[in-house]
Amino acid sequence: MSSTGTGRTPLIAGNWKMYKTVSEAEAFIAAFLPRISSVQGVDIAICPPYLDLQALVDSARGSRVQVYAQNMHHASEGAFTGEVSAPMLLEVGVQGVILGHSERREMFGETDRALQLKVPAALAAGLVPILCVGETEEEREAGDTERKLRHQVQEDLARVDVSQLGDVVIAYEPIWAIGSGRVATPEQVQEAIGFIRALVADRSREQAERTRVLYGGSVKAENCGDLLSLPDADGALVGGASLDPESFAAIVDAGAAR
Ligand code: PEP
Repeated sequence: MSSTGTGRTPLIAGNWKMYKTVSEAEAFIAAFLPRISSVQGVDIAICPPYLDLQALVDSARGSRVQVYAQNMHHASEGAFTGEVSAPMLLEVGVQGVILGHSERREMFGETDRALQLKVPAALAAGLVPILCVGETEEEREAGDTERKLRHQVQEDLARVDVSQLGDVVIAYEPIWAIGSGRVATPEQVQEAIGFIRALVADRSREQAERTRVLYGGSVKAENCGDLLSLPDADGALVGGASLDPESFAAIVDAGAAR
């Protein structure tokens, strides 16, 4: 049970993108674990590059830190050069996976159709999917934010059984706020997250109460307090600031305090 009374445990997830070699990942964990040893009431996930997964699982064993991947293929095996499957992730001890990050959508052609297969495949394997959704700056300026969010949430979750909707984590990540230093205002975040939860509630009110909805986009130790105290925000997906043990630990502390 979270301290917020929502029944949802906050999640602070760090997306390392294509940063850190194995030795750098191990050095991070050695510096990070002592900083979070007494933290309670918050789930912590680190999403490193594939090659760091095993080392991070091994070095974080016995701690609160879970290890998630940044992508996966929907099939469990096959002739898909360069891809990685859920059973492969599970065998090394991975517990979740980011799906549909805007960098994958924009730079690597990730489609809503692919996500329709990936999200249920992750759930079926027992991995926690973090589905990323969010609008571009042009879409926000054109008043199209809700249309974009509705499209992504409805399409990407279309094949998820209603009974499992609450197991999906959704990260609201306005694309203009990612890596830009331009964090969304608490009002913008609350509005978008409330809208996303309402979209899930259109399929099941009960499941929507279980669904954790995170904010992501230039979250830093200095600005996370306001965002994490929003009534509907169940944590954060953190890029740049998750690369530094001290700043990521400070964000975890703020997540635990909400
Ligand atoms: C992200 O990569 O999901 C992200 C939110 O990045 P940043 O925190 O660096 O904006």
